[in-house]
Amino acid sequence: MTQQYDEAELRAQLTEQYKHLESIGLNELSSGNVSCRFGDNMLISPSGATGSNICSEHVVEVTLDGEWGGDRKPSSEWRMHAAIYKETKAQAVVHTHSDHCVAIACQGRGLPGFHYLVGTFGGSDVPWVPYSTFGTEKLAEDAAAALHKRSACLLGSHGMICRGRDLPSAVALAHRLEIMCRQYVLTCQLGEPYLLTKDEWKEFFDRVKKVSYGSFI
Ligand code: 13P
Ligand code: ZN
Repeated sequence: MTQQYDEAELRAQLTEQYKHLESIGLNELSSGNVSCRFGDNMLISPSGATGSNICSEHVVEVTLDGEWGGDRKPSSEWRMHAAIYKETKAQAVVHTHSDHCVAIACQGRGLPGFHYLVGTFGGSDVPWVPYSTFGTEKLAEDAAAALHKRSACLLGSHGMICRGRDLPSAVALAHRLEIMCRQYVLTCQLGEPYLLTKDEWKEFFDRVKKVSYGSFI
């Protein structure tokens, strides 16, 4: 995709989407981070950003090898964002600690195919990657591998990360995943939910191809 926006527009969009994540309750205090591709580099929220302290000038430009300038440190998760840009064609990456994503990720499992909208993340489930310390190369490698063919994954004992074609759609995907995880937690309270079968998933993805449904990867 060609660069649609200039640097000032991307900084403004990133700031606005970061605040939006907080306003819809997906991130609280300084949890989570947001980035977008910027030429060969990325723009990323500064470490410790919150919905109230973030501003356009504090957004940090970082190379995919971690070089940056200025007086604001980039998010401690820049490796995870960079690894996803190296692995995929993503234009934006969003990481949250949203409640229901965390609840499932802390059970040591991904989100199974209990509802057809799980398919909007590119497969019959949303994968889970095991816990690694925040900011590490191991966490970055595992998350990028999980996002090779999917648009989101759960991060063990941590949260979620997703990628999208631009900042608003990556944020919308993070919102969608939180809703799906909330609904999964809800249905589990009533008993073991039904999971779509292989044939049902095949029919779903065949239909998606025909009607170009939703925001697929
Ligand atoms: P940063 O404030 O450094 O972006 O870290 C928040 C976070 O979610 C770490 O995983
Ligand atoms: Zn985090």
